[in-house]
Amino acid sequence: MQLIYDFYEKSHFPQQSYLCIMTKGIGQGVLVSGFSKKTKAEKIDWISKQFHNPAQALELLQNYNHADSDLQNLHDEFTENALTNFYMPLGVAPNFNINGTILTIPMAIEESSVVAAASNAAKFWSTKGGFKATVISTEKVGHVHFMYCGDSQKLHSFFEQYRSALLASTDKITHNMRSRGGGITVLSLVDKSDAMSNYYQLDVRFETQDAMGANFINSCLEQLASKLKELAAKHPDFSEEEKSIEVVMSILSNYVPNCMVEAAVSCPVNELFPTAEESKLFAEKFVQAVRIAQVEPYRAVTHNKGIMNGIDAVVMASGNDLRAVAAGIHAHAAASGKYRSLSKAQIKDGVFKFSLKVPLALGTVGGLTKLHPLVRWCNELMGTPNAQELMQIVAAAGLAQNFAAVKSLVTTGIQQGHMKMHLLNILNQQQATEKEKEAAITYFKDNIVSHHSVAELLAKLRRA
Ligand code: NAD
Repeated sequence: MQLIYDFYEKSHFPQQSYLCIMTKGIGQGVLVSGFSKKTKAEKIDWISKQFHNPAQALELLQNYNHADSDLQNLHDEFTENALTNFYMPLGVAPNFNINGTILTIPMAIEESSVVAAASNAAKFWSTKGGFKATVISTEKVGHVHFMYCGDSQKLHSFFEQYRSALLASTDKITHNMRSRGGGITVLSLVDKSDAMSNYYQLDVRFETQDAMGANFINSCLEQLASKLKELAAKHPDFSEEEKSIEVVMSILSNYVPNCMVEAAVSCPVNELFPTAEESKLFAEKFVQAVRIAQVEPYRAVTHNKGIMNGIDAVVMASGNDLRAVAAGIHAHAAASGKYRSLSKAQIKDGVFKFSLKVPLALGTVGGLTKLHPLVRWCNELMGTPNAQELMQIVAAAGLAQNFAAVKSLVTTGIQQGHMKMHLLNILNQQQATEKEKEAAITYFKDNIVSHHSVAELLAKLRRA
């Protein structure tokens, strides 16, 4: 170990921060200054030298890179400090019947059993009426969070007097969105001083059509914030203290309970399985399993994780913002004060119905959607949906995934299918040859897959 004092910028860090303990090890404790200003080659050179085997680290980065191509240049511009590409498998799940249209859905996901499960569920429901998906609402939300020390009533009167002026100040930003039928739909003042002294909000509702809208919303909010400060500073009825409104931040919310989509499947109970008895047993157990996820948070989180397997994979493939979607969906799952299942199941009058309601702020323009060539390909595969159609597709994928997971849980158990799909990962970890893989796939058709059993089989094959 060695103490190093270099790689620092005196102007930015206090003296203690320059001290760091460096092991000649992978990314540990090395401060660097001006990294973002280095060329890509310099960055790669610097980072590779942090590894035990710099040549090997460099080679791996290069193997994932499409050297000197327009495609690589495009990808490098998506993010700061890009070194190479990080691959994810892109799979497809065919046979999705959504509102009568048959679709093959692209899924970018690394978890081995997800695409298979979605495909199975899609096929299962394709002959039973398919997925019915409905967009319930499309409202997006943003806030100017600000501090106002003074008479609340005076602030309300001020807001009513200047509401139109505040809105008018965004005219240039909203012009194109309004011509598409969108824009700011509601602007209100919310007194939050009960929750935190002097805290108020401009609560702004938006319609952003085919855009997810983050940048549009944030631009509008920052304009509203600056106009709010300007108008308050010269408002004759305000005291000096009241005039100095402090804007803390202006930002959209990823909690979008009024941007909601529902997907549902249903069929007579006795059509679920070949025999009436099996069907009844399955439907009842399925409904119980979903109810458990409604009352038991430990189960609800995993249940919803299964839904997110489908949602994330399509959100990723369609070039949308995974983090925004996940944050909004989990907030919705906990909106009652208790974290609950996002899906519901019931048997009524002999009909089994399974449905999912999720908030989804998605775009089919903006962000990466038109820039990333593979994202464009994925969107074309889905029939170039608009934002509302994409919401329906994503919700159907989430429901399909959830159906497949709960179906396995209440019948064979999750591990049978999961470990079969995971078998190739285990074989690759154990550096199995193609011949060994073939033998293992045949053997595990009738045997239970585990790390131990795979290792045992390989040892046996290798001894032979
Ligand atoms: P964007 O900035 O690329 O803008 C989309 C623009 O497309 C619209 O503003 C509009 O001018 C234009 N447009 C063309 N045709 C349209 C149509 N039919 N309907 C609507 N708009 C149309 O994208 P965005 O949607 O404003 O923002 C999404 C991006 O912002 C994502 O990449 C996301 O990751 C990122 N982001 C997210 C957050 C967050 O979620 N908290 C915060 C900041 C940025």
